[in-house]
Amino acid sequence: MRREGDGRSSPRWRAILEARWRARLEEVTELSLAYHAAAADVLAGVEDPRARQLLHRAIEARQRLADTEDALGKVATADFGRCEECGVFIADVLLAAAPESRYCAGCVAEATLAAGEAAAATTGWAKTGPSGVGTAAGRR
Ligand SMILES: [Zn+2]
Repeated sequence: MRREGDGRSSPRWRAILEARWRARLEEVTELSLAYHAAAADVLAGVEDPRARQLLHRAIEARQRLADTEDALGKVATADFGRCEECGVFIADVLLAAAPESRYCAGCVAEATLAAGEAAAATTGWAKTGPSGVGTAAGRR
């Protein structure tokens, strides 16, 4: 799966990332505006259960925007597509689905497993799967 020097810093990735960046920015803007509207209701004494949910979604969207900005920066320095944990090139199929990915599939699986074990220890929820791949960028 390793293909080095195959043009990962090419204008094609830059264009893809720029399009995603614009979409993320729009998402952050919309969620932030919606949150502030809901938060204003709360301040005015009107109970709005959406405020907390909107805040959570806005924070997640900001994280995705930051990830996309980081990936754009990496395209400029030719570091794009390398795992931040182990340094191998991230599989093309993963980058195609999420070009802002920070980690390779191996490191994501390890992190997902560790997170799953931690979750299982506290909540009894032990099922982990490949669905965790998309959230690896938000590892904290
Ligand atoms: Zn890795």
